[in-house]
Amino acid sequence: MSHVLSVTQLRKNYGDTVAVDGVSFQVGRNEIVGLLGPNGAGKTTTINMILGVLEPTAGDIRIEGLDAATHRARAMERTNFAAVYAPLPGNLTVFQNLRIFGLLYGVPNLAERIETLIAHFDLEPFRRVKCGLLSSGEQTRVGLAKALLNRPVLLLLDEPTASLDPATARDVRRKIRSFAADGSGGVLWTSHNMYEVEEVCDRVLFLSHGKILLEGDPKTLPRDHGKKTLEDLFVAVAREPLTLGAA
Ligand code: ATP
Repeated sequence: MSHVLSVTQLRKNYGDTVAVDGVSFQVGRNEIVGLLGPNGAGKTTTINMILGVLEPTAGDIRIEGLDAATHRARAMERTNFAAVYAPLPGNLTVFQNLRIFGLLYGVPNLAERIETLIAHFDLEPFRRVKCGLLSSGEQTRVGLAKALLNRPVLLLLDEPTASLDPATARDVRRKIRSFAADGSGGVLWTSHNMYEVEEVCDRVLFLSHGKILLEGDPKTLPRDHGKKTLEDLFVAVAREPLTLGAA
């Protein structure tokens, strides 16, 4: 099984609003796929359906070949997630949060795994600090440590570096790249930072009005469409999705 995630004809309607309009894509092992698109394009809705937080209106989601609708628990054992809008419980310390999520995931040798992640994300000074008292960047690092607890085969990251200073963001990008390269997992990554996307992602999907308009290597895709940079391409897709094919 080479794909850790396979999404087919996924759709989500909110009343008359079509938030996700029949998207199909895969994430391979050791691959980082960027899910890009302007505000309201349907990125978070897509991620929430993969996580089982939202029920799709139609379509199929498979995680390591497991149908997420019918084998949800087994599919979620293999998945994890981090986003700034989903902070960990603020009244628990860093250690308590990692322990509770580790127990929920049934992580083997949990004590050792927690120590490894505390060291990996430079969280030692905050081990006994309640998460609600941490800065947003520190909370992001705890969220990433939590996201790696169960060694997921599918890691979903919704703007993982949004609240990080440049040095920490660079370090986090390096860590996620080595997560993808070293293990058997794949990553679906959303970001509005095109410099970051070009540096981190092996492949990008451009989403606009719930549809995938473009897919390819972020290093060659702009040139293929007559644009100088990924940011120029992003702006063109966001503003004039229908004329892009003519570029
Ligand atoms: P952003 O970059 O701003 O986070 P996004 O690409 O993640 O945007 P979504 O949050 O997935 O976009 O939203 C897709 C569309 O669905 C938007 O038009 C949004 O207004 C709509 N939408 C999202 N959630 C709901 C909801 N609960 N009820 C109705 N409409 C919704």
